[in-house]
Amino acid sequence: MPSDDKNKKVLGIKIDVDTYHGMKNGVPRLLNILGNYDIKGTFFLSIGPDASGRAILQLVKNHRFLKKMVRTNAVGLYGLRTALYGTLLPSPMIALSFPEIVQDILSQGHEVQFHAWDHRRWQDEVHTRSTQWIRDWFEKGIRGFAELTGQEPSAFGAPAWIINDKVLDVLKDYQFDYLSCTRAKKPFIHEKIGVVEIPSDLPCFEEVGVPEGISAVTSILKDGDMHVLPVHAEVEGGIWSSHFIELLDQVKMSGYRFTTLSEIRKLLPVDKLTARKHRMDLLPGRSVPCAV
Ligand SMILES: [Zn+2]
Repeated sequence: MPSDDKNKKVLGIKIDVDTYHGMKNGVPRLLNILGNYDIKGTFFLSIGPDASGRAILQLVKNHRFLKKMVRTNAVGLYGLRTALYGTLLPSPMIALSFPEIVQDILSQGHEVQFHAWDHRRWQDEVHTRSTQWIRDWFEKGIRGFAELTGQEPSAFGAPAWIINDKVLDVLKDYQFDYLSCTRAKKPFIHEKIGVVEIPSDLPCFEEVGVPEGISAVTSILKDGDMHVLPVHAEVEGGIWSSHFIELLDQVKMSGYRFTTLSEIRKLLPVDKLTARKHRMDLLPGRSVPCAV
């Protein structure tokens, strides 16, 4: 990422909340952890239905997904109920079920942004859906976001880092200050719409596993630059929270300061960023390609 003195040793914390279980249990635990370190991060919330159980349908379609589920102990990470939502059990609402937790995030000084209406359906279906379907998905999600927070989001982080040209067409209609929709190595401008992209450039525990994830991240941070760490409420706020704490300890000791993505947006030399189109790439440890 670009280096300037004020941009040295800065780590943005991007927390994605993908499931009911993660919102209910993972977010409070992460709030505790971040509070203990006096760290502010950016929470990207899934607002609407948790249809995680639909992922089971993916098992028969995608062997890489099955390997990922086994490698990451998905049932242990997400819980058995999560595995059934949207199939045998009805889909509960995610952030909309927990307005008080959303208020806790805000009152503790964190940033809250928009991640999804229905995270699962986006992952599975956005490539085959019409612009109108995408538009409706945003309408529902942003309406719910506004109900919960009293304001519109100023950023969007795409579920599973999946976007396409139709998505960008819809995004053009929203006045987002920045997007965090890719796993690129450094920030850029989405040339089609002229909006700044702040990518999650570091690997996440879910992809690398633990304790390997800790050394994978800390070895990249040795460059002393600006980075963004992708965190999942279900994972770092779940059974791998002790590894997350260990990572924070090590990062803090190496002299990094932690911040939100909107702070990073302010630090970026926007006029010096490259304008380009994203492309899709299959990153190590992921089951489907994501935007880079
Ligand atoms: Zn997500």
